[in-house]
Amino acid sequence: MQKTTFINLLMFLLLCFTSQAQLQSPEEYLKFKKGDRFLRHHQVVSYYEYVAAQNPSQVKLIQYGSTNEGRPLIAAVVASAENFAALEEIRTNNLKAIGLLDGKPSTRKQPAIAWMSYNVHGNESCGTNTAPFVIHELLNPNSARSKAILANTVVILDPSINPDGYDRYANWYNQKVGAKYNANAAAWEHQEPWPGGRFNHYIFDLNRDWAWQVQKESQERMALYRQWMPQLHADFHEQGVESPYYFSPAAKPYHEDITAWQREFQKIIGDYNKKDFDKNGWLYFSKERFDLLYPSYGDTYPTYNGAFGMTYEQGGSGRAGLGIVKRDGDTLTLKQRIDHHFSTSFACLDAISANADKAVTEFIKFHDNTSKNPIGPYKSYVIKTKGEEARVKEFLNYLDKEGFQYGVAGKDYMANGYSYHDDKAGFVKVEAEDVVFNLYQPRSMFLKILMEPKTMVEDSMTYDITSWSLPYAYGLKAYALKDRLNPAGKVNFENKITKAENAYAYLARWQSFSDLKFLSAIMQKGIKVRSAAKSFEIEGQTYPAGTLVITRTGNERLGAQLEKILTEEATKLGVGLTAVTTGMATKGSDFGSENVVFLKMPKVATVAGEGISTTGFGEVWHFFDQQIQYPITVLPENTLGSTNLSQFDVLILPGGNYNRILNESALGKIKEWVRNGGRLIAIENALKALAGKEGFELKAKEDEKKKESDESKLKIYGNAERESISEETPGSIYRVTMDTTHPLAFGYGNTYFSLVLEGAAYQYLNDGWNVGVTKSKDLIAGFAGVKAQEKLKNSLIWGVQEMGRGNVVYLANNPLFRGFWQNGKLLFGNAVFVLGN
Ligand SMILES: [Zn+2]
Repeated sequence: MQKTTFINLLMFLLLCFTSQAQLQSPEEYLKFKKGDRFLRHHQVVSYYEYVAAQNPSQVKLIQYGSTNEGRPLIAAVVASAENFAALEEIRTNNLKAIGLLDGKPSTRKQPAIAWMSYNVHGNESCGTNTAPFVIHELLNPNSARSKAILANTVVILDPSINPDGYDRYANWYNQKVGAKYNANAAAWEHQEPWPGGRFNHYIFDLNRDWAWQVQKESQERMALYRQWMPQLHADFHEQGVESPYYFSPAAKPYHEDITAWQREFQKIIGDYNKKDFDKNGWLYFSKERFDLLYPSYGDTYPTYNGAFGMTYEQGGSGRAGLGIVKRDGDTLTLKQRIDHHFSTSFACLDAISANADKAVTEFIKFHDNTSKNPIGPYKSYVIKTKGEEARVKEFLNYLDKEGFQYGVAGKDYMANGYSYHDDKAGFVKVEAEDVVFNLYQPRSMFLKILMEPKTMVEDSMTYDITSWSLPYAYGLKAYALKDRLNPAGKVNFENKITKAENAYAYLARWQSFSDLKFLSAIMQKGIKVRSAAKSFEIEGQTYPAGTLVITRTGNERLGAQLEKILTEEATKLGVGLTAVTTGMATKGSDFGSENVVFLKMPKVATVAGEGISTTGFGEVWHFFDQQIQYPITVLPENTLGSTNLSQFDVLILPGGNYNRILNESALGKIKEWVRNGGRLIAIENALKALAGKEGFELKAKEDEKKKESDESKLKIYGNAERESISEETPGSIYRVTMDTTHPLAFGYGNTYFSLVLEGAAYQYLNDGWNVGVTKSKDLIAGFAGVKAQEKLKNSLIWGVQEMGRGNVVYLANNPLFRGFWQNGKLLFGNAVFVLGN
């Protein structure tokens, strides 16, 4: 070797070494000391950008989206230089191996892919503050541990899943803290104001949104997730200040389909998690509280997609600040919280890395098994489409979002199957245009769990809802079949839009959420709309009650624009539209009849603030602002008594505790406003504020006060938690019988399936319309406590009371819950737009 070459080589090595050694720590780069303040989101992003720029051969920074408030959503893919050079091959091999991408994987040895998500709940803020330290240590050239991890694991780090919520908390806290933090729990820096930083911009809980992807952040993240399909996903949270730390193994119930290897790994990882904690004497617990059932979490969604999904919970959250004194007199500091999350971040990377080969093999086996021998009794599903196209289309949009395969049946035949609607087995008449899909496809375990009619709950002490079956959520006429049915072709719903030279009116059936969006859009373009109060027949077609009738009369000033706007919006939203040339019905009322009701464009208000359910409000806000894009005025709760309500047509009370807000004078004002023509819509536990009050017909059901024998008073203390759930329904599905002649039920058949979350139940209205009710045997799926079941028999679910010139609408269940119960949205739309006109 020539001397100059040798020196060059030395120089090169030195340069390599120094450039890595010079990677500044988060503290150096951002000029702070760990735990002495909360970083703001943009600082964390800038550190990640810096690290990526310094390590172009090991880090790929991806901006996968942006939040509602415009903050970037980022993920850093970190790998050894060797793996990094083949990153795209590794990614595509992984997808090919599980059937998500065509082609055969190359023979390259495949590393495991581990994905770490921090701070899905914005005020569980130590996660985002840990993430810079994790990436720094992972790239530490002197760390044998990091090298060992990266030798066989590709690590994806998302430092902040919910930046809007995170900054809401961090900015608030930074404004409240003095020169030194005050550890007294009574200090204002420990009293986070409503709605708190837990939620995203629209006050949704992103850790309930993994499967449904109602929120922007979830949609954008899941698109990236499915491009990588990691073998491990760790979700970093915080819990109450007094609970020290939680890690896997998870608590029961586990979903029955979780595999033996996934269960085993829960234990394996527990051994890694506990190491530092045992060594340092840090307190922790496992196997309690955090279960694996509801499919829309950051641990269950990955689990049902073949990965190890794990929740980590540090004690802290929005109360903890930089330091807080606990009951035992010790101070919990941000630095400790960061150290703990840092420890488990590496523990779980150690665990996956030590088991990388097995994790990859088992991951492939999982997908191979579930797609070749699908689990569960049902292998295929049939969705009836005739007359149901609008609802089915919305469901297919969901399947598309998740990338599931489906098609049409292609021919008529008879089969045996379980009817969701009737909740029993029987013959199914499959017709050629019905939608068919089966579980012989990639990721079918997740699909199976979304479709299962009844989820087996091995232990009723669960953290969340126990049923979510999509055919009920989408209001589908669906069947589950034990045989394999293969789709025979593409689904092609023709969107029928007919025009007419001299149209008298345009008709749109009222069947699905898209129709509601259509109404919202055309109303805002100044089009006058009517709604048929009864079914009718015209020009050879029958139209059900609720059909929108848009006459040329009243819209003359739009001229030819009328047809243009209508057809454009109908096309955009996939809504059918028929032009008719007469106003005379062959059956039912003509269009000038009082049975074809003009719909006033309502001015809508709702209420937010202390006492109101955070997510309950968020669901209403998001529904108007994003889903139907219709103006809504949000009133602060403390102005409800002083605001001039006469400027509004509709007032929505989301769930909440209204004891303080609806005092006698505020309630009196609201009643007067209703009597003058206002429409009050109360949701879920907002009903409690109206029940039994003067002027309101609503009555809560009393608890059955059975005469207790002396013996039955001998309760076992250790069973207290278990006994308390006998009063609860943690999200079960009930059959609701509908009065389809009432405008609140337009667009629905005789039966609606409702997600019941409240143990509270109400009597049928004596003087009012019982539009949706349960009868004696209507629990379809999910867990409901014995006492709750008794109460929910023969109870009011949807009711309308006429009061003076106005109406009070009682929605005892929340049709907008988490934005995923698609079939409830039209009903809510009826309450806002159709009823009371
Ligand atoms: Zn959390």
